[in-house]
Amino acid sequence: MIQGHCECKRVSFEADCEISGFSHCHCSQCRRLHGAAYATFASVKENRFRYLSGEEDLRKYASSDDHERVFCGNCGSNILVSVDGYPDDIYLSMGAVDGNPSHPDGVSYFCRFKGAVARNN
Ligand SMILES: [Zn+2]
Ligand SMILES: [Zn+2]
Repeated sequence: MIQGHCECKRVSFEADCEISGFSHCHCSQCRRLHGAAYATFASVKENRFRYLSGEEDLRKYASSDDHERVFCGNCGSNILVSVDGYPDDIYLSMGAVDGNPSHPDGVSYFCRFKGAVARNN
């Protein structure tokens, strides 16, 4: 069971499944939106994910034609990204996930836009 919440705790969620993919995205959008050198995402199954609270506080931002980013409208915490063409998976922002659940080895990538230097770590 994966659980998580935003900084102000209005938004909370859980996913009743394992983390199936673990990725570090170095694209310029992730760097700006996450305020970090790269953003880390945990892939979970969309049909095993649900919000526990705060759905009314969610805001969405389409960072490209096929990427929609969901964040808390109160505190600004990144919650997840969904990608057109991959409807079965959602990509949780690891910064919002509680604890340190087990996950596959990380893979570095750029989303679709080349940004900073990528390196496997
Ligand atoms: Zn919040
Ligand atoms: Zn990215």
